[in-house]
Amino acid sequence: MQFSSLRLSPSILKSVTAEGYTTPTPIQAQAIPPVLEGHDLLGCAQTGTGKTAAFALPILHRLMSEPADTTRRGPALPRALILAPTRELATQIAESFGVYGKHTGLTHTVVFGGVSQFHQVRALHRGVDILVATPGRLMDLMQQRVVNLTQVKILVLDEADRMLDMGFIRPIRHIAAAVPAARQTLMFSATMPKEIMHLAESLLKNPKRVAVTPVASAAPKIEQSVYMIQRDRKQTLLEVLLKDRAIERALVFTRTKHGADRVARRLHRAGVGAEAIHGNKAQNQRQRALDKFRSGISRVLVATDVAARGLDVDGITHVFNFDLPHEPESYVHRIGRTARAGASGIAISFCAGEERDLLRSIEKLTGKRVAAATLPELPAHVPSAEPEEEHRERPAHRGERRGKPGQGARPAHGPAPHAHAGPRPVGALASRPTRTWTKGAPRRQPRR
Ligand code: AMP
Repeated sequence: MQFSSLRLSPSILKSVTAEGYTTPTPIQAQAIPPVLEGHDLLGCAQTGTGKTAAFALPILHRLMSEPADTTRRGPALPRALILAPTRELATQIAESFGVYGKHTGLTHTVVFGGVSQFHQVRALHRGVDILVATPGRLMDLMQQRVVNLTQVKILVLDEADRMLDMGFIRPIRHIAAAVPAARQTLMFSATMPKEIMHLAESLLKNPKRVAVTPVASAAPKIEQSVYMIQRDRKQTLLEVLLKDRAIERALVFTRTKHGADRVARRLHRAGVGAEAIHGNKAQNQRQRALDKFRSGISRVLVATDVAARGLDVDGITHVFNFDLPHEPESYVHRIGRTARAGASGIAISFCAGEERDLLRSIEKLTGKRVAAATLPELPAHVPSAEPEEEHRERPAHRGERRGKPGQGARPAHGPAPHAHAGPRPVGALASRPTRTWTKGAPRRQPRR
């Protein structure tokens, strides 16, 4: 199938061609025709599948062919509203509308929290056709009556599962109620738990359902391996592996925000340029961290699942799962950050004894056994000054906070000296199909 067969307006096709797209991705091929016809849609797809264009292209087409109400005076009011969980994803969606809609004459803007609302309000006052928003900021603007949703004809909920995870269910329902009932609603979600199905039943009318296979099964170019390693040795292993200069740009995933900060801080102390991003950081801090990573000043970005969602950074050579995710789908999302646009990529996971069930769930989901890697020789263990008891924290996407003092956290005794007793280069340690445990010397094969 070619884009030209989708009956999109020539001014949209012009931008698509300029972007170098020739054939629609599976989600685009499935979603664009029903959305053009005006159907509601429930799409099971994640970032990296071309999902943004799957809704942006037909929305642009529909808005072009249905001109705004010219009898109304004042600035243009949004006719399409796209809700996204994070600032980064919202920004990327808005940028995509800018790219795909370059020749359409339609206007767009994005609103999100963590920054002054001044410029956002000004853009709304100037008038926009397409509004991309995170739910929290949009609610604020609605309460201040600086946004008017009465002209919205198309509502999109992107990464609906993440929005629910982040506690946005009430804002979503509130916003949906403020949008005219006679509208087209599109909902995309990487996973389809019960809560998403309930939400879909209440917001969508007779939706067409489309689904695309997860990135993991669709991306054979990702080389996956796992190190079986004790929790308190993970940081040392990461530092040893990062000595390999072939690791040009690495994304490290932790389960909690606190864990992300700790890993980045320790990497920094070990002389590795690293930044952490997560939901507790202010927007300008996140942007600075991202800029440093994108420009190569920092080789490593440590992130939680939520913060990394929607991140579109090219050239990530390695993804490290410092902690295995509790939801196996998140593993697929995480490793999909490497090997984008047909490039090859490497995904390396660290699995502590208590995480073996998580590893099994991942292998069950992807239908593929993750190859075991042989541990390199690690420097002698120096107990860290910082607590390792991260399993006592709740995962980041449930909005965890650090546990109360005394809940298993060891007392601090000053900064940890990070002694590196000359580890062997990683490249020399090709992975063998065995699993060994730390510390340093291999022990018996653990049963899985
Ligand atoms: P998304 O899932 O929307 O975040 O898109 C992932 C990446 O795929 C983005 O960098 C898009 O520019 C790119 N992309 C989207 N559609 C196509 C297509 N039909 N052909 C090639 N690349 C695409």
